[in-house]
Amino acid sequence: MRAVVIHGEKDIRLEDVPVPEPADDELLLKVAGVCVCGSDLHYYMEGAVNTKKILEPQIPGHEIAAWVWDDRAEQFGLKKGQLVAVEPTAVCGHCEHCVNGRPNLCVTQRFHGGPPHQGALAEYFKATPEMIIPVPEDLSPGVVAALEAVGIGIHAMRKADLQVGQSVAVLGAGPIGLILAQLARAQGCGRLIVVDPIGYRRDAARKLGADEAVESFDKVAGLTGGHGPDLVLEATNSPDAFDQAVLTVKAAGRIVLVGIPAGVTYSPIDAITLRAKELTILTCNKMGHVYHEAIEAVRRGMVDVDAILTHHVELAEAIAAYNRQAAYEDGCLKTVVYPNGKDG
Ligand SMILES: [Zn+2]
Ligand SMILES: [Zn+2]
Repeated sequence: MRAVVIHGEKDIRLEDVPVPEPADDELLLKVAGVCVCGSDLHYYMEGAVNTKKILEPQIPGHEIAAWVWDDRAEQFGLKKGQLVAVEPTAVCGHCEHCVNGRPNLCVTQRFHGGPPHQGALAEYFKATPEMIIPVPEDLSPGVVAALEAVGIGIHAMRKADLQVGQSVAVLGAGPIGLILAQLARAQGCGRLIVVDPIGYRRDAARKLGADEAVESFDKVAGLTGGHGPDLVLEATNSPDAFDQAVLTVKAAGRIVLVGIPAGVTYSPIDAITLRAKELTILTCNKMGHVYHEAIEAVRRGMVDVDAILTHHVELAEAIAAYNRQAAYEDGCLKTVVYPNGKDG
């Protein structure tokens, strides 16, 4: 089958690889759509996400829509040909964190799409039944693939504990930032300000419900009576954004760090401001069991995913699409790649 394979920093190729062979407890899937995520671009541009380095040829792709393509589908309560979402993280189900409802912290989890586990940017993929999420028939493959990103947003908003009427600043108007902004709006936030240096991303933020979209975090204070917003949702790839969130948020406010910074450290944090403000700072690692909520958020129009899916390409154009998305060209927010063609 054809697959996109990352060999290391800035080395990405379209190759022929063997079709995955499902074990007894796995099903063969035909990949319908895969969204390109910021973390995929870290693997491509840096050869790593934080300390997770690419050491073997790696198929990326963890935002996955697929058709069940296995003759044993009915044994697993599924239908051959059925469109499903695929949760990229396989968990053990019985460690302390799994039992406590935090499977994203499972001690033996396997995240498909990051080394050493292969992702789905290929014609076929395999998954255990626990990773397979049936979805309503009216959802398109692109939207189904993007449910993972919506889930990241829902997980972060649970941490945020937003109260009705509270002011919010979102740092970063990439796909996750735009999902967070829409969820904050849907959850009844007050003033909503989105910060991004890129003009077309600010335009998207305004279109999707931001009251203001500004190019730099230091503009936020002036828009919030000088005291900053109650909540800052950080969704950038910049090591500077943690410090910017500290400087931006109101005293006694909350910060949720969602973005993956380039490299392995944040930039120095202003310790005096951090201490003085008595902040609550929360971090996120992927998500928990939130697919059901992600489906609801999309079907009820709380999150307009189609507005974020700006580019739709076939597998042969995937590498060009990676480059476009990494370079912020052509108004690109998020790309959907259709490994078996746009018409399946
Ligand atoms: Zn992702
Ligand atoms: Zn576990």
